[in-house]
Amino acid sequence: MTLAGREAFARQWAGAVTGTSYVSLDSDELVGHMLALTHLLVDSAVAVDFDPSIPRRIGADLVAAHFTGTETLSESLAMIAERLGALAVESGHADWHCADRRCPVLTARIARISGKLAAGYADALRERTLNEQEAIYRAGLLARKQAEQALADSEARFRAMFTEAAIGIGIGDLDGRIVEANPALLRMLRYSAAEFKKLNVNAMMHPDDAASVWQAYSELVRGERDHFRAEKRFYRSDGGEIWTHLTVSLVRDEDGAPSYQVALLEDVTERRKLQARLEYQAYHDPLTGLPNRALVSDRLSRVFAAPAAARRIGLCYLDLDGFKAVNDSLGHDVGDQLLIAVASRLALFSGPRQTVARMGGDEFVIIVEDSRNEDEVIALANDVLSALAEPIQVGGQELTVTASIGIVERPVAATSQADLVQAADITLYWAKSDGKSRYAMFDPNRNESQVTRFTLSATMPAAIERDEFFVEYQPLVRLDDGMILGVEALVRWQHPSYGLLDPERFISLAEESGSIVHLGRWVLARACEQARIWQDAFGEAAPFVSVNVAPRQLHEPGLVADVVAILTSTGLEPGRLQLELTEQALMGEETGPLEALTKLCGMGVRIAIDDFGTGYSNLPYLRSLPVHELKLAGSFAVGLRSADPDPVDERIVATLVNLAHALQLTVTAEGVETAAQRDRLRALGCDSAQGWLFARPSAPEEIDVLLRADAPLGGSGS
Ligand code: C2E
Ligand code: MG
Ligand code: MG
Repeated sequence: MTLAGREAFARQWAGAVTGTSYVSLDSDELVGHMLALTHLLVDSAVAVDFDPSIPRRIGADLVAAHFTGTETLSESLAMIAERLGALAVESGHADWHCADRRCPVLTARIARISGKLAAGYADALRERTLNEQEAIYRAGLLARKQAEQALADSEARFRAMFTEAAIGIGIGDLDGRIVEANPALLRMLRYSAAEFKKLNVNAMMHPDDAASVWQAYSELVRGERDHFRAEKRFYRSDGGEIWTHLTVSLVRDEDGAPSYQVALLEDVTERRKLQARLEYQAYHDPLTGLPNRALVSDRLSRVFAAPAAARRIGLCYLDLDGFKAVNDSLGHDVGDQLLIAVASRLALFSGPRQTVARMGGDEFVIIVEDSRNEDEVIALANDVLSALAEPIQVGGQELTVTASIGIVERPVAATSQADLVQAADITLYWAKSDGKSRYAMFDPNRNESQVTRFTLSATMPAAIERDEFFVEYQPLVRLDDGMILGVEALVRWQHPSYGLLDPERFISLAEESGSIVHLGRWVLARACEQARIWQDAFGEAAPFVSVNVAPRQLHEPGLVADVVAILTSTGLEPGRLQLELTEQALMGEETGPLEALTKLCGMGVRIAIDDFGTGYSNLPYLRSLPVHELKLAGSFAVGLRSADPDPVDERIVATLVNLAHALQLTVTAEGVETAAQRDRLRALGCDSAQGWLFARPSAPEEIDVLLRADAPLGGSGS
């Protein structure tokens, strides 16, 4: 079988070539490959016209397939010589007449095939070897060229950098002798190359060098470190000095031993000057040249960063009195000059422990670090006040300024920076409110009450929303029979953290902040709702409700409308509402309050003057007002308390009662605590009274009980 013969040939051929060299093909592939070559061989042997390129290609193919072992060619040629003839005869070609494998024509053909195959093999092998050599050569060449180029490049680059660099570069040996310096370094230090090479690094010491710089340097030349950086000053040849950013690196030889040092110097003198200027600007006030708020805060931070146990600190917080008036009346230029003059007087108090600074506007501060005690800082404040007492010449005029000073002095460990400054600020405010031109010393008790006042005032509006307020009622009793005529509504604040607060604690705050308008409307509405309930329950016998109205409320344009709206919505008869006003609320030029009173009175609402006798007690004036009742201040009752009352008080009360009656006003006495007081007041003609003798202010349910009892209050009703 033709095919079987060729396959057997191919298999044997494969064995021959693999036995002699490493072949990457696996055996099936290999046999396949050799079979393809076998076909070519046989075809070439039986072809009518011999094509020499075919065996050459087969030879080349063997090389290309890496059958390049020393025996490959000889083994292949031996097989061809032995067996190709038989294969050729077996496959017989139409044009091929010879059927004998020993036919000389066939033998000659096989010899030629072998020759060409060998030639092809040899050529291919040489070609490949050459190629390999060439590749290696080229690679080597390329590598060398690249290396040379790189070296030349880096040398050129280094040279260029060395000579052109703006940065100074100096090379020295380990003893500090200068080997080389670039032009930038010579320019920087103003030396010629020759002069500079005579210098030694060790002589480039600057008296202000940090010890750490030279420490690092000696470690470097000993080989204990490879580089260091520092900001260092150098003297120039002309004696001037420059600041540099210095980097020194150690260069070692192939064995790692230190061989020389390279220093890079960047001239940072300008940058440092700029930095210093910016720093100065950031920490000083441009007008007076004094340290500013930022410096103060920095200095205090430093003090508080490490609060040593025994350290104390003092602050004098100073504010000029009436500076705004100077600015407004004499102009800002004069104001500025005054500030400059004040600053220069204050500057005299600065010292190693004392910093004088301008905090802004006309506020200055003196920090006393490591103060000894309060007295030291008080003495300082006194000195400052007297230094400022001398008149100041400004713009051709003589100005006298005074200042107020707040003083705080305490152990550093017992306070914080923020607390200290806040305390000084508060204390300054005290000095102002105590009359100016003085100092005030921080007082924790005074501060606490102020802090509470502030918190109360700030949280009041929200507290109204949260229903933290409630109203108590205190009976107003007819002196004739001790029966309840009316009740006064008195507001209380159930504060979540301060507990139950009396109106004394918060009414004046509410006045100041304006919250009283809201709070007053709220009390009025509650009181009228309650009075309506009593009106329904007790009819004619129901008490009127007396509601306090603060001066500020009376000046509010909405008061009348509020009262109307509340009376309408609660359905309370206007005659069952009394409003208590203070005299001072009615004094003054404005017509609004009087108009409001007139309207309210016209509606049938009763008007009482509260705490009469503590203000102007301007009875003739009252004549022109729509008022129904006077409430005599509790202080009169105090004078009538003892068994042997003060005759002057008695006469005053008698006079007031008479006058009031002459004006057709009823009189209620407040603060009646004893039966004796009650008896005196009744004897003096008072119509009614209010006080603990009859009842304490209490919840509406307790008033209910009293009303239902329908009995006289205050013991013997007589
Ligand atoms: P006021 O209007 O003169 O109220 C009378 C004050 O005297 C009440 O104090 C009452 O508790 C107190 N008092 C009553 N009987 C006696 C007594 O026998 N002896 C003594 N020593 N005191 C007695 P309270 O409730 O602390 O109110 C104080 C002030 O707060 C009131 O004085 C009033 O001016 C104001 N106030 C109370 N509630 C309101 C309100 O809703 N609005 C406004 N604007 N002010 C109010
Ligand atoms: Mg009152
Ligand atoms: Mg009163």
